[in-house]
Amino acid sequence: MRVLAVEDDPRIAADLAAALGETGFRVESCGDGEAAWFLGDTEDYDLVVLDLGLPRLDGLTVLKRWRANGREMPVIVLTARSTWTERVEGIDAGADDYLPKPFRMEELVARARALIRRAAGRGSAVLSAGPIALDTNHMSVRRQGRPVRTTALEYRLLAYLMLNRDRVVPPTELLEHLYGDDDLHEINALEAVVARLRRKLGPGVIGTRRGFGYFLDCTGGAA
Ligand code: CA
Repeated sequence: MRVLAVEDDPRIAADLAAALGETGFRVESCGDGEAAWFLGDTEDYDLVVLDLGLPRLDGLTVLKRWRANGREMPVIVLTARSTWTERVEGIDAGADDYLPKPFRMEELVARARALIRRAAGRGSAVLSAGPIALDTNHMSVRRQGRPVRTTALEYRLLAYLMLNRDRVVPPTELLEHLYGDDDLHEINALEAVVARLRRKLGPGVIGTRRGFGYFLDCTGGAA
């Protein structure tokens, strides 16, 4: 899951990056409104955490411009002033959730997970497909009820495929969501992660459509 964290206070920005990173998100940080607007307008994020008080362009304007341009990613708004007018303005501008400062990182992380699940059209913390169950609260994977140990990277890859199980996901998109596109990672690296995950999950769970990408085979491996 790829998250954009927009916050100009370096201390809070560092805490955000750490908390979301530990949760298994791939975090990109940005400290001003203008840059945030550009990133959100041109890149695909699964979630944005957006501070309202930002240099160069305020958070509300950034959010309004994204929505006006049809950018529909889930957005959690942060603000120092917990006044109801600001909350209403944030929601009117297209925020999906709202958190007044100071807040606990645990609460932010819980809300981030809930928003991503809601955006994927699933309300439950446990995603399942065939014999595989993935618990997004505990970041754990089970196959036919038995725990499967995964690395953070393998977990992220499986979670992304499960959230997008109605389609074939191109390798470039997976790479972007796993690493962010500022890193130089090759398709070979992705193939290696998929191969390791396949060994752990057993046959028939992750399918390949040659020339197109990977998909979750919900029926495979059920026996
Ligand atoms: Ca601020």
